[in-house]
Amino acid sequence: MRLIQSAVFKLTLSYLGIIMVLSLLFSAGLYRVSADQLIENANRQRGAIQRLPLPLGLEQQRTDYLDSLTVQLDESRSHLLFRLALLNVITLLIGGGASYLLALRTLKPIQESLEAQGRFTADASHELRTPLTAMRTEIEVALREKTLSAHDARMLLSSNLEEIGKLEALSAGLLRLARFENGLNQADLAVIPVAELFEAAIDRFQAPIAERRVQLDVQHGTETIMGDRDSLIELVAVLLDNAIKYSPEGSIIKLTSKPSGNFVTLGVQDAGAGIKASDIPHIFDRFYRSDRSRSKEQVKGYGLGLSIAKRIVSLHHGTIGAESVPEQGSTFTAKLPIHYVAKSSFLPL
Ligand code: ADP
Repeated sequence: MRLIQSAVFKLTLSYLGIIMVLSLLFSAGLYRVSADQLIENANRQRGAIQRLPLPLGLEQQRTDYLDSLTVQLDESRSHLLFRLALLNVITLLIGGGASYLLALRTLKPIQESLEAQGRFTADASHELRTPLTAMRTEIEVALREKTLSAHDARMLLSSNLEEIGKLEALSAGLLRLARFENGLNQADLAVIPVAELFEAAIDRFQAPIAERRVQLDVQHGTETIMGDRDSLIELVAVLLDNAIKYSPEGSIIKLTSKPSGNFVTLGVQDAGAGIKASDIPHIFDRFYRSDRSRSKEQVKGYGLGLSIAKRIVSLHHGTIGAESVPEQGSTFTAKLPIHYVAKSSFLPL
C-alpha cells in the first residue's frame, strides 16, 4: 500500500525531527554549560598563576604556561564538540529506527482499517456484479434471437426483475451497514422495553412467518434496555430473519429475554439446519456465508445480516455469540447492558 508507506515515511521523519530538535537543543545547552565551566576553570587557573610571585627570568615560562592553558581550553572545547556530535549521530541512528517502529505501530490500525475497507469494496463489487452479469447475459442471448416471442420476453423480464430484487436487497444491506458505521446518535437513545423490540421485529416478518408456518414462542418480562430503538429492533430482526430462513417449515422459534445484573440477554433459538463449528467464528464477518447457504439450499442473503447485528451490539457495548448443533438448530444470544455507557465517559469508582 503506497499510501501507508508514504505515511510511515512522513511520520518517521516527523518523529525523528522532534527527537533531533530535542537532542540538538540538549546538546547546545550541555555545550554551553560545559564550555562556560571550562572557561571559568581556565580563568581561575590563569588568575592563580598570574598572581604567583615569580623570580625574574621565569616570566617567559609563565607566559608559555598561560599560552598552553589557552591551547588546552581550545582542545577541551573541540573534544566536547566532537563527543556531542557523536552523541547526535547515535541519536539520529537509534532515533531513526525507533521512529520507524513507532510510525509503523501508530499507523497499524489505519492500515488494517484500509485493508478491511479494500476487502469490503472488493466483496461488495463482486456481489454487485453477479446479478448484473446474469442480466447482461440473458439480455444478450435474447437480442441474438431473430424473433422473440411474447412468452420469452416475459420470462426474460421476470428473470431480470428477480436480479433487480437481489440488487435492491444488496444495496439495502450495504446502506444499513453504512448507517451503523457512523455510531449511534446520542439524541436517539431511549429506554425501550424488550417486549416492544420483539413486537416490532416480529411485525416485520408477518408474511414469511405465515408462509413458512413458523410458530413463535416469545418469553420476556418487563426488562428494558437503554439504546437506539431502531437499531435494537434491527438486531432482533436480523436474528429472527435468519431463524426463519434457516429453519424448516412449521418449526418453532424461541425469542427470549433474561435479565442478569446490569445486563439483559436476548436469545433467538431455532430448530433449523444449524451451523458447522468451523463456520461459527466467521459468520459475523461481512459477506461470509456458509457453503451450505450459498449452494445446497440456496437461501437468499448476502452475508451482511450478522455483521450488522454485531456492529449494533458493539455500539451498545454488548456482546453477541452463537451456539449451534448441525441439523438440530442454533441459538444466538446478545448480551446488552441495561444502561447505555458512552465510551468516553468515566465510570464512577
Ligand atoms: P445471510 O443470512 O444473508 O447469508 P448473515 O450474516 O445473516 O447473512 O449470516 C451469515 C451466515 O451465517 C449465513 O449465510 C448462514 O450460513 C449462517 N447463519 C446465520 N444464522 C443462521 C441460523 N439461524 N441457522 C443456520 N445458519 C445461520
